[in-house]
Amino acid sequence: MMVRAGVRTDIGRARQRNEDAYLMEEPLFAVADGMGGHRGGNVASALALETIRQAEDGGRGAEQSHSLVESIRRANHRVLEQGDSDRNLRGMGTTLTALFAEAERAHLAHVGDSRAYLLRDGSLQQLTEDHTLVQRMVREGKLTPEEAAHHPQRSILTRALGVEGDVEVDELTLDLHPGDRVLLCTDGLTTMLDLDRIKEILEASEDPQAACDALVEEANSAGGEDNITAMVLEFLPEDQGRVEGSESATDSGAEAATGSRAGAGVEPAQEASDSEEGGAEPDQPSGRRRVRRAALWGTVAIVVIAAVVVGVRLYVDRQWYVGDDRGAVAIYHGIPSRALVFDLSHVSERTNLSSAQAIRLQLWKDLHKGIPANSFADAQRIVDQIREDLGGAGKTGGG
Ligand code: CA
Repeated sequence: MMVRAGVRTDIGRARQRNEDAYLMEEPLFAVADGMGGHRGGNVASALALETIRQAEDGGRGAEQSHSLVESIRRANHRVLEQGDSDRNLRGMGTTLTALFAEAERAHLAHVGDSRAYLLRDGSLQQLTEDHTLVQRMVREGKLTPEEAAHHPQRSILTRALGVEGDVEVDELTLDLHPGDRVLLCTDGLTTMLDLDRIKEILEASEDPQAACDALVEEANSAGGEDNITAMVLEFLPEDQGRVEGSESATDSGAEAATGSRAGAGVEPAQEASDSEEGGAEPDQPSGRRRVRRAALWGTVAIVVIAAVVVGVRLYVDRQWYVGDDRGAVAIYHGIPSRALVFDLSHVSERTNLSSAQAIRLQLWKDLHKGIPANSFADAQRIVDQIREDLGGAGKTGGG
């Protein structure tokens, strides 16, 4: 089977950097979504892809699905080692979803919440399962898939490369049919577009590159809240297809990300925005008009400030989070930040769970910063999950 491939990665509309990366080196294709402060995310995703690329270079002929999983384990070690040895990279990690194409089959290997989908005979099927907290809660019947899709904690991963010495890698072998289209993508796409829309675009696009372009553009139109990467592979009979990678063989993510960012266009020059006393009114306003104008602006400012205060109050009153209250896990009403004028949160319920023990678990390490929840009930579910993860240990001995 021949592969026609397209790819696009984009910084999105809200992030400072593109920490997504991809690898397109037939027969190996992969996307990775890096995370970690400073430049850690970029390093983690690029390093993971470079590791599996090198392994593929040296490992041809081996049993491929096995070697792909092995090379992902090696990538895990390298990301973890580099994170441990460089203070600026500490805590970095990455997802990785990879596909290795053979004549009639494709091997997939996957860790994290990037995804692979198969479009075949008019239906779109998700091939990978997200390694996220919310997906785990869906499987346990604690959340519906719809609740999970909009859950504020949906990006908390239960598995990623660079977190622990051993990583469990999901694998899958797919028998290829002529005309199959496979989408590899990061969560910046799937959190912005629903499945029906993704399917429509994949079906309607003339070729894989057009599909990637359309997917990224729509994800940006929908808000572009995260980095977006889409790679589309189309499998065709030998006589029909030809490889059309849009990038050179050695291209791996970091360059791609940088390139796409550079290509996104130059910041528009700051428009000369004169104050209203400028061009429209060439004459100097009289002193009295200046006073009137100052009074008017003063009133406007007070109204705006009052509206902001009321708005913040209304917003805060609808927020919940789980955090630390003097060593115990507690449910807070409000948002976890300090304001100069008034408190933005208060403890609604204190539990007998030790926050120190919860923070020691990778999944709950951000507890001290506050873990946002949709509602009080949702916060209780998070507490239940923490209780379960602590497995009965971690009582503070009174709440
Ligand atoms: Ca992401």
